[in-house]
Amino acid sequence: MLILVTNDDGIVAPGLKALVAVAARFGEVVVVAPEAERSGVSHAITLTEPLRSREIAPRWWSISGTPTDCVFVGVNHILPRRPDLVLSGKNRGPNLGGDVLYSGTVGGAMEGTIQRLPAIAFSLVSGTDDYPFDAAAAHVTHVLEQAARAGIPQGVMLNVNMPSPSLAAFRGYRVTRLGTRFYSNDVISRTDPRGGSYFWIGGTRVTMEMDPETDCGAVHDGFVSITPIQPDLMAHAALPALAAYAKSGPRFGADRSATAARSRKGGGTRPATRGGGQGGEPRPPPIDAPSTRPGLPSRGTNQRRGLPGPPKALFHRQRGMRAKEEP
Ligand code: MN
Repeated sequence: MLILVTNDDGIVAPGLKALVAVAARFGEVVVVAPEAERSGVSHAITLTEPLRSREIAPRWWSISGTPTDCVFVGVNHILPRRPDLVLSGKNRGPNLGGDVLYSGTVGGAMEGTIQRLPAIAFSLVSGTDDYPFDAAAAHVTHVLEQAARAGIPQGVMLNVNMPSPSLAAFRGYRVTRLGTRFYSNDVISRTDPRGGSYFWIGGTRVTMEMDPETDCGAVHDGFVSITPIQPDLMAHAALPALAAYAKSGPRFGADRSATAARSRKGGGTRPATRGGGQGGEPRPPPIDAPSTRPGLPSRGTNQRRGLPGPPKALFHRQRGMRAKEEP
């Protein structure tokens, strides 16, 4: 079995070394990992600069990119053949709940899934600044044994969070759903030694859902949490609520060209343009005005129907952007 291992803490991170030590018992390992820490890069891929690679030791490749770059280049270029498994981690810190959207550890494994390979992300959750990665070796072994035995469903990756002994006494393994986790929205503003100001995104204070069915709750109860996740971000359940968008509405393209022509000619007659011109549709109301058209409910109507309207701030931002596009 050929195993590709990556991480987001960088090629010198102790968590990577600890993961490789376990993976090597299951097959031949090739490491392709970022040359520097890339935590929080999510599923970023590098398209605007070169990726430099170095084989820093036999079968240990560093790449000047993200975990996704590492898996992409590893699978499609560096490895002698397609790997049988992609592993990412062990991350220094949790990747619970919404963390999966920001996590480079998860991003690397998810790229494995997108490359149609079984993939697992491992993260160690500690109650202190101490991360005993080797202590989690038994958990990684257990998960890899189960993966070898039962497999991983096609198109799904496993997001594994392991409690360190400093967080909770180990109680077993639990298959979980993603919980909800909120960070404090801290932005720390400081001045650098040369007098320039800078921001640092903080957000270390966390509140989270402690339901035992969730990854957050399980880990804090002492369970290794195993959550199946997938690249599909599609909001399938929202389709019916958006049905009205597909009904015939204002034809913006036609209207725009007609407006432009009118202003060029000082409000003269409209030329026959694509879908516009004489006999075209009446000018639609501004997008944010209450509408009397059937099938295009105003925001008020939306709220009466109990549908979540756009947040006010977002709505205003969108209006601002629209105004800039159409001076
Ligand atoms: Mn990390």
